[in-house]
Amino acid sequence: MNKIQMVDLQSQYKKIQPEIDKAILNVVGSAAFINGPEVKQFQADLEKYLDVKHVIPCANGTDALQIAMMGLGLEQGDEVITADFTFAATVEVIALLKLTPVLVDVDADTFNMNIDALKKAITPKTKAIVPVHLFGQCANMEAVLEVAKAHNLYVIEDTAQAIGADYTFKNGTTKKAGTIGNVGTTSFFPSKNLGCYGDGGAIFTNDDDLAHIIRGIVNHGMYKRYYHDVVGVNSRLDSIQAAVLRLKLPHLDAYCDARKNAAVYYNQGFSVSNKITTPVTSNFTTHVFHQYTLRVNDVDRNALHQHLLDNNIPNAIYYPVPLHSQKAYVDSRYKEEDFAVTNELIETVISLPMHTELEKEQQDFIIKSILDFVK
Ligand SMILES: *Cc1c(COP(=O)(O)O)cnc(C)c1O
Repeated sequence: MNKIQMVDLQSQYKKIQPEIDKAILNVVGSAAFINGPEVKQFQADLEKYLDVKHVIPCANGTDALQIAMMGLGLEQGDEVITADFTFAATVEVIALLKLTPVLVDVDADTFNMNIDALKKAITPKTKAIVPVHLFGQCANMEAVLEVAKAHNLYVIEDTAQAIGADYTFKNGTTKKAGTIGNVGTTSFFPSKNLGCYGDGGAIFTNDDDLAHIIRGIVNHGMYKRYYHDVVGVNSRLDSIQAAVLRLKLPHLDAYCDARKNAAVYYNQGFSVSNKITTPVTSNFTTHVFHQYTLRVNDVDRNALHQHLLDNNIPNAIYYPVPLHSQKAYVDSRYKEEDFAVTNELIETVISLPMHTELEKEQQDFIIKSILDFVK
């Protein structure tokens, strides 16, 4: 059995190595490292894949979130609601822009923003909602859009973990994750479902005016060379990363399917235990399994984590601390009872190896090792 890895990027690379190596060398040979043709082509390819009017590439997923918020003209004191159970980048940029983060609890089964908590958190200062499509499935966007419409709020989708997921509305229309709200953002961090070989990110929107504003913001606030109309940033996807992403994009659906198949295999294996809850997928979304995350009950989760490590099975606790308890984001307005679900999840979740190259033999070993421990 090959050594089990949390994410196996080498084996994935080896399958497409000749094309990738050639594309990287082409960029090096052309010396068009910044804003080369590969960037424009990847942008167009991703617009087509997502069926969205505008993709604006940028340097990483955290920048993408920040730039989206800058583009919407959010100002100091505006309240932005996001989920308590997510990676810190989402709340970090809100705070960095001197906006007021408002964290809300999530649903225990899907790990995504709880709609009642969202409604309860709205005040006259609320300006935007940032649903995070956590672990690979969409938040309840139809409900989020309803709330946003009723209160005239922007919706910024953090799609860093769910690129490629499909959302189906009650009327049967389907849209790609990240193209449903006013603006969507993603990350091409190497371990994400569409990962490059360094840092990368992108912003998506169907709004022509917003796209124009954002194209200037990513480039020092310039709409005409050396004329700076607004305060911008320097956030670019470099040509080598774009070349890698262009070659990987046609594989994205197959990569998501490989993850899904691995998830189904795990689900079957764990179905014999009533101490393990396997991931639940909402009926309005597909799940692209950026993470495969179990919940355990009546089991010492930390001991399980160690047991797996002792058996050379990498695993991770995403996330060990709720954002509302992080030193950087504590706020006297928060009440513990409003975060009952997140507070429980941080004690009971465990994420298992999940990537495109998992072998059944490896999964059998992981499943057996967990079932032996939880009995
Ligand atoms: C990875 C991630 C980000 C940040 O992306 P970077 O490219 O690492 O800056 C933001 N939000 C979520 C939910 C993520 O998983």
